[in-house]
Amino acid sequence: HAKHVGGDTFQFYSDNLQACTVERLQLENDLRKAIREEQLAVYFQPKLDVRTGQVCGAEALVRWRHPSLGLIAPAAFITLAEETGLIAAIGEYVLREACRNACQWREAGLDELRVAVNLSAQQLRQGNLVSLVRGILQETGLAPHLLELELTESLLLDNLDSTLLTLNQLKSLGVGLAIDDFGTGYSSLSYLKRLPVDSVKIDQCFVSDLPREGEDAAIIRAIIALAHALDLRVVAEGVEEHAQLAFLKAQQCDEVQGYLISPPRDAAAFERLLVEQQALA
Ligand code: C2E
Ligand code: MG
Ligand code: MG
Ligand code: MG
Repeated sequence: HAKHVGGDTFQFYSDNLQACTVERLQLENDLRKAIREEQLAVYFQPKLDVRTGQVCGAEALVRWRHPSLGLIAPAAFITLAEETGLIAAIGEYVLREACRNACQWREAGLDELRVAVNLSAQQLRQGNLVSLVRGILQETGLAPHLLELELTESLLLDNLDSTLLTLNQLKSLGVGLAIDDFGTGYSSLSYLKRLPVDSVKIDQCFVSDLPREGEDAAIIRAIIALAHALDLRVVAEGVEEHAQLAFLKAQQCDEVQGYLISPPRDAAAFERLLVEQQALA
């Protein structure tokens, strides 16, 4: 309960249910406004092809440019967005922005890059996801094989039957599918065979202590061997050090993503990175 501290001033405590409700309502209202007033921005983080050393794609990551709080990371608002249904509007916005930008990279004469978009559980259960994706591809003109959708393990496994139906419909549009944060969920390895995915992204928790941590190194070797045996590409997330990249390269990891290559950048800064790379090549 709110503690009345005099006059019309209330003091709220974050472990207090009512205070939380008030804070949540405030946040929810701010988020609605953010969508309306276009305070959301899509940042892009490059993915590097380990063999060629070239940027081969980018992950779209949403940010909230809050008028007074500054740049807010998705961890602070995605859960609320899911609980309130606002994720539908946010997800559609991110998808459209990602496809639109990927087309622009091509028009700027840059090499063909894939763009990856994260999907939430809510979006996967939304009845219109497949037609939404199809519509945005048509509207933006992005070739379907240049779009990849990232889904987490746990999200894939609840409601497996209806999920499989949706994933197969997405596949038949021609888009790529990736399992995000691989290794952190509860998926039985046998599901890997049933899911129509093209790649797995090794979660950064296995990467951060490489190559010193022997058990993480063993897990990564095993994931790469399994994924390659199933004809899946492997992307490592959260690569921050040269030694990590060298280890992953030696293990034949296909792609890496992380601060070592670049943090997520806004669209203009990302395009500058591409232009610089192309000039060097
Ligand atoms: P994710 O999809 O696993 O994205 C990778 C996260 O790792 C990003 O955090 C990225 O900024 C961060 N990262 C990248 N390289 C490094 C590194 O070298 N070291 C460390 N420590 N971190 C690194 P971010 O942008 O804060 O996003 C967090 C999560 O929020 C994402 O995890 C994703 O699950 C979710 N998310 C982001 N954008 C969207 C979106 O548009 N829709 C949905 N549904 N979820 C999103
Ligand atoms: Mg992701
Ligand atoms: Mg991830
Ligand atoms: Mg993550």
